Amino acid sequence: MSDLLANLNSPQLQAVTLPPVHALILAGAGSGKTRVLTTRIAWLISTGQVGPHGILAVTFTNKAAKEMTARLASLVPINVRGMWIGTFHGLCNRLLRAHYREAGLPQSFQILDSADQLSMVKRLLKNLNIDDEKYPPRELCHFINAHKEQGVRAAQAEAYDNYTQKRVELYAEYEAQCNREGVADFAELLLRCYELLQRNEPLRAHYQQRFRHILVDEFQDTNTLQYAWLQLLAGGGAKVLAVGDDDQSIYRFRGAEVGNMRDFERDYCGNNIIRLEQNYRSHGNILAAANAIIKNNRERLGKNLWTDAGEGEPIRAFEAYSDLDEARFIIDEIRELIRDGVPATQCAILYRSNAQSRVLEHELFTKGVPYKVYGGLRFFERQEIKHAMAYLRLLGNPDDDTAFLRVVNFPTRGIGARSLENLQASAHQMNSSLYNAAASLTGKAGQTVGAFIRLIEALRQETANLRLPEIIEHVIEKSGLAQHYRTEKEGQERLENLDELINAAATFVDDDGVVMSVEGEGGALASFLAHASLESGEHQAGEGQEAVQLMSVHAAKGLEFDVVFISGLEQGLFPHENSVNEGREGLEEERRLMYVAITRARQRLYLSCAQTRMLHGQTRYCAPSSFLDEIPAELLLKLNKRAAPEPAWSGRAGGRGAGTGTASSGRASAGYAAEPMPGGLRIGQNVEHAKFGIGVIVATEGRGGDARVQVNFGGCGMKWLALEYAKLTPL
Ligand code: ATP
Ligand code: MG
Repeated sequence: MSDLLANLNSPQLQAVTLPPVHALILAGAGSGKTRVLTTRIAWLISTGQVGPHGILAVTFTNKAAKEMTARLASLVPINVRGMWIGTFHGLCNRLLRAHYREAGLPQSFQILDSADQLSMVKRLLKNLNIDDEKYPPRELCHFINAHKEQGVRAAQAEAYDNYTQKRVELYAEYEAQCNREGVADFAELLLRCYELLQRNEPLRAHYQQRFRHILVDEFQDTNTLQYAWLQLLAGGGAKVLAVGDDDQSIYRFRGAEVGNMRDFERDYCGNNIIRLEQNYRSHGNILAAANAIIKNNRERLGKNLWTDAGEGEPIRAFEAYSDLDEARFIIDEIRELIRDGVPATQCAILYRSNAQSRVLEHELFTKGVPYKVYGGLRFFERQEIKHAMAYLRLLGNPDDDTAFLRVVNFPTRGIGARSLENLQASAHQMNSSLYNAAASLTGKAGQTVGAFIRLIEALRQETANLRLPEIIEHVIEKSGLAQHYRTEKEGQERLENLDELINAAATFVDDDGVVMSVEGEGGALASFLAHASLESGEHQAGEGQEAVQLMSVHAAKGLEFDVVFISGLEQGLFPHENSVNEGREGLEEERRLMYVAITRARQRLYLSCAQTRMLHGQTRYCAPSSFLDEIPAELLLKLNKRAAPEPAWSGRAGGRGAGTGTASSGRASAGYAAEPMPGGLRIGQNVEHAKFGIGVIVATEGRGGDARVQVNFGGCGMKWLALEYAKLTPL
């Protein structure tokens, strides 16, 4: 016990050993909030105040939940498996699986991820003959999710104009379609769970009695519905410990309400607010940079962070010529760090936008440095995996139209778009799923679609008594997927991914075929499918392998690394132009993101930007981020721009064909085609000019006699030059 409390400072000790009261821990990054939360759970259990059964702990990512469970297992000798520690979505899913009937869901209900949701909305608009330019599907998804996150169903949604009225009607249609198919999107998991607990008194009483202590990490990012859900569960006398940092609230776009912290103070904790001010994570210079950034935000609850770790190294700043040059710099530094003994897993590259990872991945791949991407490129989002999962989903629930449409003609079975349109129309008329409506098709369409239905029925029978990995293996083989990829030119990697799916299933089930850490009914398959939707990205290859960590700043929340690279610090990218356009609030959110990014670093921090960047297929010239100016110059060590870039862009173009058949190279090549200009000039070409000296072409415009190029001449600045007159000598 004393061991448990040994290494805590006095406010931490106070927080861990609080009596059973509601309390808020309000503290800055790296001050031990998560550590306090985990230690408190261990303390409560080991002092016999509550059993593992009586704890409900909510964290923000699956990774964090795993870490918390592992940490707990090392602190107290209990069986942590089966404890209710997870994300809001994960916990709601678990509750709904256990009480699917009461929740009005089929036993094997499927979870729609955001791509599935988008495709369902598109389909719906098409069926209803709605102009998708007037009602863009993405916006409609946002509209639906935003309402759900406020706890508002279509029936209660308000509309003051015709346009909104129409959107509310579409929201209602969408709800009806989800119910017909027996599927739930992410926001639905929460709302459905909330409504179930609200409506079902005995069930609510059961859980209210069960959970005696509710602990919430990253409380600043809870949204209205999540807060209401917590309030409901805490209604039976449970004590809530909320832990958060208003300066790290970065999910405003998903409805996060920093105001929840104030409400919580008012509704629950009264004077029980504990502030932690000592930062144990970062060296002084890193902390000073973080403090310098965040102090420019106006609306803050106000905290004072300090460290006794010493100043440490200066912050390294590097300005590259191009994004590729930046990637080269970062990867070279990492290779040196690894050579010097820094574990690869302790090196993280952070970016504002997932699209940035492509160039970095390409460089890592080329240099043979193992890496792992969190978020963004997700294993479960790969085409072949989604196909396999769609077959599996249909086994569990034939009414799942999204899955049906994904594979009804994949591999090709000669089912034309026309037949499918007819099928969709009759399903709509009959108010039934596509699967059920298939029998109504006649002629050739009836035959081809009928064959597909028989295939699914046969698969269902053949797999009835198999274990999960065998089910998946069987389905991949017998559906024709494996054969399809065997004959595809670049199918090898896809086949490997499908094998990896079988592996994932094998590790998901223990030796007796019992599904791990899922309570309630629902077979292994349903649990696995839910797990896949909720844990996208966490089953990437190389689990446990030493690898450089790549992730967006959002995904890095709560994590820490010895060395952190924040890349792409350019105006418009970070801070992101969308947020900047929203005015002060948008910029302040970006600043909080920057604060989160900086405070991930323990010992060494690199900040980098590029003068030109290829984004969404276009090269653009970028000015350094205004955040760089907010960091006091004395904290920075400016690294020299490297000598003229290596034939960077030509390397890219050349890299296009190289290493085909691997995901990394395939991804890295997209959009790199740099069309040569007269004289063989192209973007990335080093050139010499009689007056301005050596430069690199960063943009081109026009054709023939009108052609112009933009050249970065380093010290002489950026110039637009007409090719006809400029006399540029290629180097
Ligand atoms: P964030 O805001 O980024 O989520 P946090 O407040 O949750 O940060 P933790 O992750 O709990 O901070 O702690 C940061 C680091 O400091 C961890 O490595 C943790 O083990 C360490 N730490 C926390 N408290 C102490 C302490 N009293 N003594 C030594 N190390 C500590
Ligand atoms: Mg934390």
